[in-house]
Amino acid sequence: MDHETKEKILRLLPSVDEVLRNDRVAELLFTYPRKLVVDTVRQMLSCERRNILTQNGYEKNKKKNKTFFLDLIAVKTLDSVHRSVRPKLRRVINATGVVLHTNLGRALLSKRARQAVSEVTASYSNLELNLDTGKRGSRYDPLEPLLTTLTGAEAALVVNNNAAAVLLALGTMARGREVIVSRGQLVEIGGSFRIPEVMLQSGARLVEIGATNKTYPDDYRKAVNENTALLLHVHTSNYRIIGFTRETTVSELVEIGHSFSLPVMSDLGSGSLVDLSVYGLPWELTVQEVVKSGPDVVTFSGDKLLGGTQAGIIVGKRRYIEKMKKNPLTRAVRIDKMTVAALEATLREYLDQEHAIREIPTLKMLTVSIETLQEKASGLAAILAGILKNQAEVSVENGNSAVGGGAMPTAVLPTAVVAIIPGEISAAELQAALRQGEPAVMARVQEEKVLFDVRTISRVEFEPLAQTLAQVLK
Ligand SMILES: *Cc1c(COP(=O)(O)O)cnc(C)c1O
Repeated sequence: MDHETKEKILRLLPSVDEVLRNDRVAELLFTYPRKLVVDTVRQMLSCERRNILTQNGYEKNKKKNKTFFLDLIAVKTLDSVHRSVRPKLRRVINATGVVLHTNLGRALLSKRARQAVSEVTASYSNLELNLDTGKRGSRYDPLEPLLTTLTGAEAALVVNNNAAAVLLALGTMARGREVIVSRGQLVEIGGSFRIPEVMLQSGARLVEIGATNKTYPDDYRKAVNENTALLLHVHTSNYRIIGFTRETTVSELVEIGHSFSLPVMSDLGSGSLVDLSVYGLPWELTVQEVVKSGPDVVTFSGDKLLGGTQAGIIVGKRRYIEKMKKNPLTRAVRIDKMTVAALEATLREYLDQEHAIREIPTLKMLTVSIETLQEKASGLAAILAGILKNQAEVSVENGNSAVGGGAMPTAVLPTAVVAIIPGEISAAELQAALRQGEPAVMARVQEEKVLFDVRTISRVEFEPLAQTLAQVLK
């Protein structure tokens, strides 16, 4: 395309004012700041100018007129303004089947927990006020009695997350002294949390004992000396060592610890208040069973198997919990009122376990029957087939979901998935486009198929998912 032609096309571009007079662009000015709209129009114009000057494929535009370019810039402006004002943190339909997906925000809250958060953020509350005495109260007051009732522990404290719980517990109980841990339990969780590194931050000295696959009670006994402050047991929640193994249990540690008058701590990570093996999941000790076995302190997450919000829960003997409450670090890792509200409501659900299984989304998704999943998958497949017609092949298949969140890594949960084989684009391209949709959809790809696992998709999300798919394939 010669220079003269380019100049001719450039003269077809509208002025900023002409674009602003376009009906739909003018409408944007009622909702969004004028500066944002005007800047966007300028950007779109300069981008188009650059395209005309640099691209040779503009031949076809020779026939285009002023109206064409005005419409083009208006549409691009609309699109860009809408995209830039869209929240960066937004809703995603989790079609991966990973129930506690850390990248997708882990646990979903129960209805009552969501209502509690909504209420406590819309009005003032008695967060730190005792309504009986009119004096200052503690933000932990609503949580401690529930936690001691549910776990059987003497006292409880809740901090920002479980990593903070471990840091606070170690810093309070073992600062400047030694903590004995089995080599097989020096786990890394999610890249940024490694037991040895948290230990270093807490000021405690790590004493590693045993071998990766085997640690015996005697290994602990031999490592105890006058500098020992604590015996630590870490639940290796995100991996399993199988084969020729020996782990010392929390009860064994309690026996050893108490024979030396040393406290014992158990970091459970994904602690559950319900025995999920009844529902076909791997057997693990519940939090209350671990507490019963006698450790002085137990820590676990609020948003893993508990199904609440991000929080680190510390339960145990009163003398240690009281010391932690007085540690200045507690103020730095304290929870906000939304966490108190969400967690109080979640813990209340557990006062009746069957009720908890029905109401807490994490537990509901983990325990749903295969029949229900198959029926859900047929329902979703019918909706998708209806909108896709011949654009893709839709079928229902068997698959596997995962617990996620570093919990129960070996658990295989049989599920039903809706599989899509797209006609025109590859499965990976469809998967990427779905992430950009509105609402965004996170799906799995396997053997050139895009899979939607209905375990983590609620029925009310079927229509929005179908809309995103239709947008993407149109
Ligand atoms: C997940 C986990 C943690 C960290 O908990 P967060 O709530 O994610 O901070 C610590 N220890 C163990 C054993 C865990 O599984």
